[in-house]
Amino acid sequence: MTSIRTRFAPSPSGYLHVGGARTALFNWLYARHSGGSFILRIEDTDKARSTEESIRAIFEALDWLGIDWDEGPFYQSRRMEIYREHIERLVRSGHAYYCTCSPEKIQQMRERAMATGAKPRYDGTCREKGLGPQPGAVVRFKAPYTGTTVLEDVVKGNIVFQNSELDDFVICRSDGTPTYNLAVVVDDLTMEINTVIRGDDHVMNTPKQIQLYKALQAPLPVFAHVPMVLGNDRSRLSKRHGATSVTAYREMGILADALINYLARLGWSHGDQEFFTRQELIAKFDIKAVGKSAGIFDPVKLQALNADHIKACEPSQLAPQLVPFLARLGLEARDDQYLAKVISTLNTRSKTLVEMAEGARFYFLEEITFDEKAAGKFLKPAVAPALESLIQKLEQLEEFSEKALESAFIQVMEETGLKLGKIAQPVRVALTGTSVSPGIFEIIEVLGKSRVIRRLKKALEFIRSRSG
Ligand code: GLU
Repeated sequence: MTSIRTRFAPSPSGYLHVGGARTALFNWLYARHSGGSFILRIEDTDKARSTEESIRAIFEALDWLGIDWDEGPFYQSRRMEIYREHIERLVRSGHAYYCTCSPEKIQQMRERAMATGAKPRYDGTCREKGLGPQPGAVVRFKAPYTGTTVLEDVVKGNIVFQNSELDDFVICRSDGTPTYNLAVVVDDLTMEINTVIRGDDHVMNTPKQIQLYKALQAPLPVFAHVPMVLGNDRSRLSKRHGATSVTAYREMGILADALINYLARLGWSHGDQEFFTRQELIAKFDIKAVGKSAGIFDPVKLQALNADHIKACEPSQLAPQLVPFLARLGLEARDDQYLAKVISTLNTRSKTLVEMAEGARFYFLEEITFDEKAAGKFLKPAVAPALESLIQKLEQLEEFSEKALESAFIQVMEETGLKLGKIAQPVRVALTGTSVSPGIFEIIEVLGKSRVIRRLKKALEFIRSRSG
């Protein structure tokens, strides 16, 4: 069997849209699953939009998602010669012709057709004229007038197009540049792409492309047109629905593994499994299991899945991903081991890396500032003896294990007659500045002896200064 060759062919438009990312992902997963190759091609013929910057944005987003390519990036803008040769070949073989009909004339044809309720079609004026190249002429494909063109689509099944509905479409503009349909077919066949997975907004182009393959006597690739990604109102996902760029989700603290898991599940399924690691996706993905119905992008579900990925990720692997989010808060994590321990107290309670960084703040502060409300409620003179006693006990502890800490707290409870909650909340405020945090023993263990004692002493001073 020949090996699978898939491609992702974005037209740069400023950023990588999550819908585009899903197309890239399906092609990449299918290639990786089948031991084939994944090719990246930049369709940059629209000079106005295809800036260096928007191309870089695509690379950056793919790189972050971990979608790597085996060949390319190829740039359509650098392949004009190849398109030219194929256009000439089509003219020579009688499958295409030069057309000198003016834009006004084409407009008239369109209006006439619309007046009779017919589809606007080129009327074939130049089809048999045998014109040669000349200024202002376009090249049109000589499309069959009768019969049908059948798209055998892996996702959609067979779609039959009446050739009478199609027309002699332009393959080369008067400035010599190829149109989308011509460039895509020439690229796909010269790059030996045998599996085309793309959004179903391209279904209407496909009969034209199939006719071009046939005229060029090239074998057809397998086509799989995937339903679009929709917003919650079932219209195509756009900025109206919220963030649509891959990078925006990275900034929100979504993990790349969570986003690819989520995008894969938008349209593809494997039983009722929701959580997939990257390796599982590669092992289980099959283009035949992509469904016909459109996936609705739900940022809330994405966050829930992200929480699961945060939980499943080794703290030491999550650490480098959290660092930039800490940096945004002005926090610097110098010690990898400390950071991994910090993460292990937060990974079951954070939906995003943004949330996790917020939750980690107190671990990295030199000085804790007490939240007014929390301090008012919990740092009261009545707890001063308990804090004092706890400081003494902790100072004597060799090792901050959960067991040792528990017994220190029990002793303080016995001495002061206070219940655990009455001691734990003031300690929490002393150590974190707030009344919400991971488990008290966990944070004591991670913060370590000197930080804990320093912070408890500061809380004690605070209580004393307030009580005069
Ligand atoms: N450049 C096209 C797009 O971004 C994709 C072409 C294709 O996949 O055939 O929509």
